[in-house]
Amino acid sequence: MAINRAFIFLGPPGAGKGTQAKRIAKLSGVPHLSTGDMMRDAVSRGTDLGKVVGPIMQRGELVSDELVMKMIEERLAQPDCAAGCLFDGFPRTLPQAEGLDRILDSKGFGKPVVVDLSVGEEKLLRRLTGRRTCSVGGEIYNVYDAPPKVDGICDNDGGKLVQRADDTAEVVRQRLAAYDRATKPLTEYYRRQGVLHVVDASASMDEVSRALGEIVKRAEGRNGHL
Ligand SMILES: [Zn+2]
Repeated sequence: MAINRAFIFLGPPGAGKGTQAKRIAKLSGVPHLSTGDMMRDAVSRGTDLGKVVGPIMQRGELVSDELVMKMIEERLAQPDCAAGCLFDGFPRTLPQAEGLDRILDSKGFGKPVVVDLSVGEEKLLRRLTGRRTCSVGGEIYNVYDAPPKVDGICDNDGGKLVQRADDTAEVVRQRLAAYDRATKPLTEYYRRQGVLHVVDASASMDEVSRALGEIVKRAEGRNGHL
């Protein structure tokens, strides 16, 4: 049984963060929280916050840290978070991390357990620039690691395989550099607190899940603060 522990998943595009976050949340029985989902949920339930956030999202504008923090505070007060929760894609900046610490502290959570899914740049480039999506069924291939039987054609339905515009080498390099710049202060912040676990995410999905499962188990075996 989980102690009221917040897990935070960090990782660059292509590290498999979203998939792992969902798996580990399920494994440890805590809700998987992404700020995008939380905002959409607040809007669809018509909460006070949702009424404020909805129009901002509709205009395609960025929701302020202050509103995001309020939303997280509300979300953590819901009963399914009593045993803990897992943040996917949050915090993104140092001020958000500091704000989250204050919220966790005020809600009686222990120190968060932060995992950083680490993958070398060459490997990420391969994963992202090799990705092709079926234009019919949406199946995902990788020209290096999981190629279709016939070049450019989906095995299942013969659909044409296409590359997303932001998966070209130049754009991928920019995305990775932007991620590094934004995340370095965060990982340093958590490293200084002794709560950062760097996990080699260049291995297979299942191996990475196993490594993450071990970290979660160890974290849950501990009471209160690390
Ligand atoms: Zn297909």
